[in-house]
Amino acid sequence: MVSSPRRVGVLIGDGIGPEVVPAAMTVADAAAAVEGFGIDWEELPFGAAAIASHDDAVPDATLSALDDLGLWIVGPHDSASYPVEHRSRTPGAVLRTRYGLFANLRPAKAFPGVPATKPDIDVLIVRENSEGLYADRNMTVGSGEFMPTPDVALAVGLVTRSASERIARVAFEAARDRADSGRPARLAIVHKANVLRLTTGLFRDACREVGEEFPDVEVTEQHVDAMAALLVRRPADFDVIVTENLFGDILSDLAGELAGSLGIAGSVNCSTTQVMAQATHGAAPDIAGRGVANPVAMIASVAMGFRRYGLIADDPGLIAAADRMDSAVAGTLAAAIATADLGGTASTTEFAAEAVRRVTGP
Ligand code: ATP
Ligand code: MG
Repeated sequence: MVSSPRRVGVLIGDGIGPEVVPAAMTVADAAAAVEGFGIDWEELPFGAAAIASHDDAVPDATLSALDDLGLWIVGPHDSASYPVEHRSRTPGAVLRTRYGLFANLRPAKAFPGVPATKPDIDVLIVRENSEGLYADRNMTVGSGEFMPTPDVALAVGLVTRSASERIARVAFEAARDRADSGRPARLAIVHKANVLRLTTGLFRDACREVGEEFPDVEVTEQHVDAMAALLVRRPADFDVIVTENLFGDILSDLAGELAGSLGIAGSVNCSTTQVMAQATHGAAPDIAGRGVANPVAMIASVAMGFRRYGLIADDPGLIAAADRMDSAVAGTLAAAIATADLGGTASTTEFAAEAVRRVTGP
């Protein structure tokens, strides 16, 4: 049975984007073909190329196309290299804000064959992506930073009960889903309510309350500083970690490095209706154009995007394709095929070709 093609937006981006995004697309195409469907990739102008063609890093044409899509993949953007008049808002912020992508999901799991500081780490960090101290993400009050005088700077940390509850719900559901694969459902609420009593205290309380709807999930609470130490000391004690924006940013880089390298970690930004697959690494201008970039993070992000959107759209084909992509990447790395950043000699396209070969086979 061949079902109708799935529409997926593609925003190639800057730096190594033109290398890792097409590499991930080849793996996704192969996985979809095995599952009996095609992918209708809709490439949309974005980043430096869109500044050249449309005088806008995120042109209106791109936004109106995305309005109509549930799933898209986005390469890195190197906004520091844009002409100064295009640097005021990063393309990532434009997309997060317009589509209300309030959840940033960042797993950290060691791959067999890739040296890791903590081979037993296997966590999912669920980061609130629309509030907190991040000025560019303060979707409700706009910029949260200002200077009343040239010598004083203030940052407003915004926490609302509704945003805390909605991220908690995503996290508890994720804990439950991950438990299906043979482990108990565990979730750590990470805050700093001994010092940031009102803001992170509200976050903690909202998470606790949502937890009452999930009696099957074991809940623990950690201060963010203790959590950082515990991730290094006893990573296997943790599964899903839910936290606010700034803490989530820092903890997910820590967890990513403990699992091997930031270059292998996938990530999605999502709302309850739309999913944007986006690797956590940047545009890596130092290696761009040489064909040596590691495509693993991008492939893993696309697989996560397929899985997440598959749940939203009730599309088991997308979920099955995601599983195939993940095992193909794990199999390729386990066979000691890797790019230079992981100590290997494979090029970006060689790695992707090996993953494609494994998508169809065992
Ligand atoms: P940003 O501000 O956009 O997050 P950054 O300063 O964190 O960028 P990256 O672009 O992520 O920097 O690059 C950091 C280092 O990691 C660089 O040396 C880069 O070459 C390397 N790197 C990043 N992504 C990859 C990748 N996919 N493959 C190989 N090396 C990478
Ligand atoms: Mg970075």
